[in-house]
Amino acid sequence: MLELIIIGAGPAGLSMAAEAVLAGIPSEKIVILEKSEAHSWSIRKFYPDQKLVTANYKGKAALCKGVMCLSDSSKADTISYLDQAIESYKMNVKYLNSVHKIDRRTDGTFLVETDKGSYEGKICVIAIGMMGKPNKPDYAIPSEVRDLVTFDITTKPIRNSDVLVVGGGDSASEYAQYLNQEGNRVSFSYRKDEFSRMNEINQKSLTALFDRQEVMPILKSNITELRPYQNKVEVVFGEAEHGAKIFDVIVYALGGSTPKNFLSLLGIAFNGEEPVVKDGFETSIPGLFLIGDLSAGKKGGSIISAFNSAHEAMQKICQDYLECKL
Ligand SMILES: Cc1cc2nc3c(=O)[nH]c(=O)nc-3n(C[C@H](O)[C@H](O)[C@H](O)COP(=O)(O)OP(=O)(O)OC[C@H]3O[C@@H](n4cnc5c(N)ncnc54)[C@H](O)[C@@H]3O)c2cc1C
Repeated sequence: MLELIIIGAGPAGLSMAAEAVLAGIPSEKIVILEKSEAHSWSIRKFYPDQKLVTANYKGKAALCKGVMCLSDSSKADTISYLDQAIESYKMNVKYLNSVHKIDRRTDGTFLVETDKGSYEGKICVIAIGMMGKPNKPDYAIPSEVRDLVTFDITTKPIRNSDVLVVGGGDSASEYAQYLNQEGNRVSFSYRKDEFSRMNEINQKSLTALFDRQEVMPILKSNITELRPYQNKVEVVFGEAEHGAKIFDVIVYALGGSTPKNFLSLLGIAFNGEEPVVKDGFETSIPGLFLIGDLSAGKKGGSIISAFNSAHEAMQKICQDYLECKL
């Protein structure tokens, strides 16, 4: 029987294991189940390669409470910091293990099933983030243009193309900056004309690109339809002044959402769209915790807030469940 089963090897899951080892739980009594072939899959997939990973993401205070911390760094340095944590705390990460079922048994322990096997543990921590299913637009994406539409910028290289970035947050701004640097002709569609969800640096960088006419703003714009047009895609806007425009690629940066079905199936209580978490990020099910982006609420999370949530969860676990040497 494991002491701790952690689901998801992103910043939250990895720092959870680090906190547990530091609290005296033997590393061989902890397992991390990760559905992808490498840890921190959201960072690898959704961050542009040259991105500056900011410690105060979304204006959150860069204040670290636990064992893991981050200062402004590159994407590669962030991944390598997490690599080092896996090594130093001798973490047992089982890659290509996608969790589809978690049962709390009558004795209070958990049985966690992946597509590869099952694991029994005293405590279960879910740290699967929000980017497993990026948000999709509410109009249809016709099958003929599906290959021209993407929700990240690492799956396939985008070069020398007419690209439309759709969104209004930090990711949208960073995608536009990156695609412009890569030599694409970038347009930017957002339904408002002010960027209240972007940090100051991203807002300034994007506005500077608009001013230098390196990125074409299509603001106060609502897309109503996508249509195939030769080997490209025609984007129809609801506003007469924007009309319809042709692009090679559309990149959506609409954020992610709570995997509500997955969590409700486990019996976790919800308040509207948000899972209910109590002190120390414990759910309505005793011994089952939700950390990282999953419990960050509407404003979204950051790497440091994921690290901090693991620290708080571990304090609660030591207080109520496991024998720790804190
Ligand atoms: C484009 C972009 C830019 C960002 N820039 C910054 C920044 O500069 N600074 C900053 O602090 N934050 C930034 N963030 C936010 C930051 O990436 C997240 O807050 C952080 O990654 C959350 O960590 P997490 O561990 O909760 O989730 P994630 O990082 O999403 O990790 C979840 C892990 O769980 C795995 N998983 C999912 N489902 C399952 C399953 N069923 N079974 C097993 N494993 C599963 C995933 O493969 C993944 O590895 C950015 C986010 C995006 C999208």
